[in-house]
Amino acid sequence: MPRIYLPVIHLSDNQISITGEKSRYLTSVLRCRKGDDLIVFDGEGNCFRTSLIKSEKKEVVVEIIGKFPCNPESSLDITLVQGLLKGEKMDMVVQKTTELGVKAIFPVITERSQLRETRKIARWRKIAEEASRQSGRSVVPAVHEQVDFEKFFCESPATEHGAIFYEEGGMTLSNAFSNFIPRPSSFTILVGPEGGFTRAEVNLAIGKGLIAASLGRRILRAETAAISAVTLVQFLLGDMD
Ligand code: SAH
Repeated sequence: MPRIYLPVIHLSDNQISITGEKSRYLTSVLRCRKGDDLIVFDGEGNCFRTSLIKSEKKEVVVEIIGKFPCNPESSLDITLVQGLLKGEKMDMVVQKTTELGVKAIFPVITERSQLRETRKIARWRKIAEEASRQSGRSVVPAVHEQVDFEKFFCESPATEHGAIFYEEGGMTLSNAFSNFIPRPSSFTILVGPEGGFTRAEVNLAIGKGLIAASLGRRILRAETAAISAVTLVQFLLGDMD
């Protein structure tokens, strides 16, 4: 059944009016017609099963059949702090880690970042929204504005539990996570840019209470490391086990 993300739902007489690019998407891309069923979710954990009673490019009107708490969200709030990557690698990281359940993504500029700025935040937010819709999530991860690595630590709330992934050292995750009893409810993952983190950046993270973690003896591309790290953290601490 098709799903559509509506961050703001205007309810009146048990009906929802959908206009703009969302109504064009429903009629032109999903080819929804009068009488079709549709799931509408608001990204805050509310889902509505609805039926189309009007289907025009300018406006689609659906009638609510039922409301249900859809909570396919992980019990673990994962924040991914990702060194800016070139080309479409960041698109892949945003899409795949959204499917895997991250709650927030911070693009960061590190000492070895080849990019010092980006104009793709709005693009990545659309990718996150589409990946949320496709993967049946009820929350769209927040893709934040780019931030300097050092500033991230100063400005963001203290990260109680987290790991900086470092290919030149670090604990295995199974060893690192054996200390996490009880399970934390949130976890921050730091993955570097193509050139990796500097030792100073790793030390800064450790000084803030994060662990340096290894993904094994092979050097992974940053996008592989980000997807693997989120998967492993979800398995060990989240809802994949
Ligand atoms: N410095 C590397 C490239 C860094 S890979 C080189 O010599 O080619 C980009 C990022 O992926 C790293 O900053 C790290 O966060 C992560 N990463 C890659 N392989 C890893 C591994 N085996 N263990 C932990 N992190 C890894």
